[in-house]
Amino acid sequence: MKNYTCECGGKMNIEEVEIAEGIKSKGYKCEKCGDVEFTEEQMREALRKKEKSIKTVVTRKLGEIGGSLIIRIPKSVENQMKLKSGKEVNLIVEKNRIIVEPV
Ligand SMILES: [Zn+2]
Repeated sequence: MKNYTCECGGKMNIEEVEIAEGIKSKGYKCEKCGDVEFTEEQMREALRKKEKSIKTVVTRKLGEIGGSLIIRIPKSVENQMKLKSGKEVNLIVEKNRIIVEPV
């Protein structure tokens, strides 16, 4: 196992680090500044764990109001995520998908 040293000079140890809410995966964490780095393999494992954490997929048709596209949120998701009209959400645009994240 290669020994990693952080840019700050601190030693990097393998630890379970939180990659998303409630999801932990192995990565190198600096014991001095807390920076986290992943090897390629650790990154793949982290992404796998993140994908697995997806609990619900709902299919919706896009609608249109005033020339803008809209998506209706099902009641079940509204309740689960404690959403309500007027609440702010972030649209996170990735290569092939859009994630809606309550702020
Ligand atoms: Zn460091």
